[in-house]
Amino acid sequence: MFKKVLIANRGEIALRVHRACKELGIQTVAIHSTADADSMHVKVADESVCVGPPSSMDSYLNISSIMAAAEVSDAEAIHPGYGFLSENPEFAEIVKASGLTFIGPEPEVIRLMGNKVQARKTMIAAGVPVVQGSEGAVNSEEDALRIAREIGFPVIIKAVGGGGGRGMKVVHAEAGLIRAYTVARNEARQFFRNDAIYIEKYLEAPRHVEIQIMCDRHGNAVHLGERDCSLQRRHQKILEEAPSPAVSPEERHRLGTLAAKAAHAVGYEGAGTFEFLYDKGNFYFLEMNTRIQVEHPVTEMVTGMDLVKEQIRIAANLPMSFTQEDIVMRGHSIECRINAEDSETFLPSPGLITEYHAPGGGGVRVDSNCYTGYRIPPHYDSMIGKLIVHGRNREEAVTRMRRALDEYIICGISTTIPLHQRIMQDATFISGTYDLHFLERFLGK
Ligand code: ADP
Repeated sequence: MFKKVLIANRGEIALRVHRACKELGIQTVAIHSTADADSMHVKVADESVCVGPPSSMDSYLNISSIMAAAEVSDAEAIHPGYGFLSENPEFAEIVKASGLTFIGPEPEVIRLMGNKVQARKTMIAAGVPVVQGSEGAVNSEEDALRIAREIGFPVIIKAVGGGGGRGMKVVHAEAGLIRAYTVARNEARQFFRNDAIYIEKYLEAPRHVEIQIMCDRHGNAVHLGERDCSLQRRHQKILEEAPSPAVSPEERHRLGTLAAKAAHAVGYEGAGTFEFLYDKGNFYFLEMNTRIQVEHPVTEMVTGMDLVKEQIRIAANLPMSFTQEDIVMRGHSIECRINAEDSETFLPSPGLITEYHAPGGGGVRVDSNCYTGYRIPPHYDSMIGKLIVHGRNREEAVTRMRRALDEYIICGISTTIPLHQRIMQDATFISGTYDLHFLERFLGK
């Protein structure tokens, strides 16, 4: 096992990785920008290194500075968390070339899955169903029109190198296609420095269901069931749950087995997620995320496994500590993302937390880097924590979430807690029959 791991991230996920390291007897090195010197992830780490000024480009995305931090601290491995450099194949390559271990899959696998057209082709070859769409990148206006006609409107135009729910364009009729095509290309160039785009059939009212998989270097590939992430605002997840209220045990087994096989087939190592759209009893592959995800705790709550500790074990060449037979889903878990945002306008609300009290009691977990007196810097993502509950069934989880949200005290800034409180009272949410557009409609009310 590693003696020392550098955590190349900030906020709650840096803290989450630190906790896993400690339980494995590993020393931790935190990195931080000058704006994050007072962050909880820095306070708890065994060592910390400042890697640059507030801007992410100059700190959490600054590869040479992070590598220098790993060198001076003698870290043996780097955990990238999510976001930032976690799905950057060049970073994984540099870590490897420097003689350190990147806690994640091989750079080639990150690269393959980061290209959505390649990922689609790989999945088709592995027998995983995909949304009907263009075979490869779409290179001209004429091509776009021909393919869209073939597929039938509505369609969605996506960036081949896209991510984070950005740069996608839904087109409902032929008249809007050429304009959307041009805008999508420009945005893709701007956001992802790659203007390749492709076209998919736009499903009108699907659910977002994703499968957690885990593979080690000893030939073991396991799935840990699904998460339902259909509560989204502008393609960003707000709330997640496991299991999905829409998926049957047979579908879980079928899709999970298929995903684990597909991961094994591409030589996947570590934790990964297959994202699907679920529509009228059918699953369609969207993309694979080659990192730990924000919403991994709901899977941990229902399976009792620690995904981050397992990632580290796998990177250290150890076999996974469980087999498929050990994965039993017990009860129900819900996660609410707590953002430092106004709960109605969604405007960011950074600043000083004058009072902080996290909920507790049975079945409640809080992953957050907040504390009384912490000043949330304005430079980063607005998510400041995750409230996760577990219950014997969905009804108990919902009741527990209501109770825990009522207990959560965060003063001095605005948060999305009131939004979650309203969702927990909504009849459609309570019935579990919501789809991807539920939140849009709910907010429009
Ligand atoms: P990203 O990598 O930017 O997150 P994804 O391909 O994973 O992009 O899609 C993100 C979200 O966009 C999905 O969760 C869903 O809400 C919506 N979406 C993507 N593709 C489709 C589609 N073909 N039909 C309907 N909605 C879609």
